[in-house]
This record gives sequence, structure tokens and C-alpha cells, in this order.
Amino acid sequence: MSLAHGRPYLAIPGPSVMPDAVLQAMHRASPNIYEGELVEMVAGIAPDLKRVACTEGHVAIYIANGHGTWEAALANVAMPGERVLVCATGRFGHGWAEMAERMGIEAEILEFGRQAPIDPEALKARLAKDAGQEIKAVLTVHTDTSSSARSDIAECRRVLEEVGHPALLMVDCIASLGCDRYEMDLWGADVTITASQKGLMVPPGLGFVFFNDRAAEVRRAMPRVSRYWDWSERAAPEMFYQYFGGTAPTHHLYGLRAALDLIHDEGLEAVWARHAVLARAIWAAAEVWGEEGPLRLNIPDPAHRSHAVTALRLGAPHGARLRAWTAEQAGVTLGIGLGMSEEGDPKGEGFFRFGHMGHVNAHMILGLLGTVEAGLSALGVPHGPGGVSAAARVIAGG
Ligand SMILES: *Cc1c(COP(=O)(O)O)cnc(C)c1O
Repeated sequence: MSLAHGRPYLAIPGPSVMPDAVLQAMHRASPNIYEGELVEMVAGIAPDLKRVACTEGHVAIYIANGHGTWEAALANVAMPGERVLVCATGRFGHGWAEMAERMGIEAEILEFGRQAPIDPEALKARLAKDAGQEIKAVLTVHTDTSSSARSDIAECRRVLEEVGHPALLMVDCIASLGCDRYEMDLWGADVTITASQKGLMVPPGLGFVFFNDRAAEVRRAMPRVSRYWDWSERAAPEMFYQYFGGTAPTHHLYGLRAALDLIHDEGLEAVWARHAVLARAIWAAAEVWGEEGPLRLNIPDPAHRSHAVTALRLGAPHGARLRAWTAEQAGVTLGIGLGMSEEGDPKGEGFFRFGHMGHVNAHMILGLLGTVEAGLSALGVPHGPGGVSAAARVIAGG
């Protein structure tokens, strides 16, 4: 017998849980894209997006997923043959570097492994060696969704200043914006990218590139930028179609409007605090389970853990078995391990992830943890007793 019949719960790190308000806002006839309600609504979207990124800079919107924003951001600031330094704390740093390489940009990787954040001292040492200041941009991933390591972006800016290096600081916030505290202007990021389907709670399909005046100046000095990726007109359109380089992504925009209302009605500080408490509840359960069994949080130091995604190690084949059990028996889909072992390595079956980004609350997280605890028992995977109670104590303490 399966106990999965009921509302399914996709607890993977993107796409995230879609709020009913977002889905209902999207359920409508096609709007006119030349005048009227849609055109008026879009004028308010850019300011509200900037409030989520804590920036007074500019924002360009693309009909693209996160991979598209990797390319969009690079297309505006680096030519083929130029060099960027990519700080890799998991699979997604490598992904951004591969995107740069395929654009003819030289991407040098500064590797921090799969269980740790960016080490500012290592970044400093590399930048100090760049006497000719050839590195045009430092690419960072705030939260690497594969490892769930979260890096300190303000520290990266401090390092650039100490070395006196002019490189742009670019940040992939696809897994963190609207989940973890992120303050673009205060922390000194020049470019921030994100996508619609994680903390922003909208189906995949919209990408966002935020940039400041320094980055805009670098863009102006570029000999050319591809017509579609150029952020200039999108961020300062004279005609409505220029926001999107063509037809507006009509229904996604209605969904985004509803999602931004959810975020700002709750309050950004409260959104961050909610994610922080729910993440601590997850860690508390995992630590108790790990006391008498193989389960481990992938990032040992809580200060370096994401509040939106948690990568766990259980050992092969338990990770894959647990994911199958929770989906088939309880209606909860867990995330696969990503980039934690080489392809084809059976150890890849030993990892799994929880997505806890966006529209998630205490009862969902307690349900998720209770399901995992049931799965560990059903599969005979040794684990310490009382993980869910430990999580409940965190929730009770707020
Ligand atoms: C999800 C994600 C991406 C990729 O986004 P897609 O929409 O799948 O292209 C890139 N970087 C990070 C940190 C992500 O979490």
C-alpha cells in the first residue's frame, strides 16, 4: 500500500513549490501586450525586484532560465579572449565557467571543493598575483545548490579592495535570492543574477540580471554585445517590447507580480528569518539522525550552510533508496545528489538534497522530516532516534 495519495510535495531545490496565488494569477486569457493592464503592471515590477536584491542599480529581465542569465551577464562584460576567475564551491561554479569557455572567455577556476565556501585568503592570494590586472571579473556562486555551501560575498569585495583589483564582482544568487540574506549594494556586488523558479516562486522561464553603474560602464566599453543579451535597453526601455527584446512573457509576469507581493507583504527580513529557522530545524534533525548512523550534512560548519537547500550524505545506495521510498510511499520528492561524485560512480547514489526555498513553512518542513525519518526506519538505515523532535524544538523556539 502507498500513502502517497494527497497533495504531492516537490522538495527539490528548484523548481520550488508554486504558491496558489502565483498559479491563480497566471490562470487567465492572454493580455494585450501593446497597452493596458499588463503594460501598467510591468512598470512596478523592476522596483520591487530591486528591493528583493537590495540594490538601487539596474535590472534586466530575460526569457531564460538560470543558464541564460549566466550567458547574459557575461555577454555584457567580457569579450572572447578576456579572462575571468571563477570561485567554485560545487557544480554550479563549474557550470558558469563552462558557459564562459564556450563564449571564448578564458575561465580560470579557483577550486574550493564540495564541502566548503570560498576562502577569502585564497582569493586574495590569486588576485595579488595578477599584476597585470588581466582578470576582468570574479565570478562567485552565493549558494552552490549542489554542495549547499554558502559563501561570504562581502568578504570577497573586501579582498578585491585590499588588493586594489578593479575586477567586477559577479554573483550567482539563483539559489539564494528571496531565501538567504543578500544585500547587493551593501556587500559590493557589481552584478547579481537570479532566476524565477527558486526563491522567487514562479515557474522556470524568467531570468534576472542586476547590475550597478560600474558594470554599466564596463558594458559601454565593450566593442559589441549580442543583440539579445544586451542589458542596456532591457533595463531602460523606451518602448514596452524592449523590456523583453520582443514579446513579453505575459503569464510569467502575472505570476511574478503575485510572488513579489507575497515577499514584500511578509517582509524581506521576515522571509530571511523564516528560511533561517526552517534550515536550523532541518540541521537539528539531521544531526540527531547522524548520531547513530551514516547520515551527514554535507557542509560541516553551520555558518557556511545555505538556508534554502541542504545537501546530505547517506552512503550508496541508501540515498537513492530513500528518495524512491519517500516519493512512492509518501508523496514527497527529494532532490538528487548533484555533482558530488564523478558520473557513473555508484557513490552518486549516496547523496540527496532537500530544497527548502520560497513557499515553505513549518508544517511542510516537519512533514518532510517526519517522512524522511519514516523512510530511514522502513529501509532499515541506522539513525539516531528523535530527529523530528529535535526539529520541532527548533520550530517551537522560533
Ligand atoms: C538552479 C541553479 C542554476 C541553474 O539554473 P537553471 O534555471 O537550471 O538554468 C545556476 N546556479 C545556481 C546556483 C542554481 O541554483
